[in-house]
Amino acid sequence: MTTRKTTDSITTKKKLIKTLENAYNTCFDCGEKYGVYSVGCSSVYEGKCGVCGEIKRITETRDFAYFVTGIRKLKKEIEDEKSNSTTQKQEGKESSL
Ligand SMILES: [Zn+2]
Repeated sequence: MTTRKTTDSITTKKKLIKTLENAYNTCFDCGEKYGVYSVGCSSVYEGKCGVCGEIKRITETRDFAYFVTGIRKLKKEIEDEKSNSTTQKQEGKESSL
């Protein structure tokens, strides 16, 4: 028997959203993971990635559309997890209308 740690997962995702929102630089691994590369050429240089914290070749988060796709996805996942955990409570109320 395993209990899914929904709240832990939500906390982790919220933290990640904050990191993505506040990051100024990103390496290409994080960029491709959470965003979409949106420019033809960008200024790439060696430095600390604002997401994973590793010293890599990085560029501005702007070049990955500020991670909007990744942030949107994470927010949806949080919503889904919240609604999953409240589904049982809501079921009883439907018939009282
Ligand atoms: Zn990174």
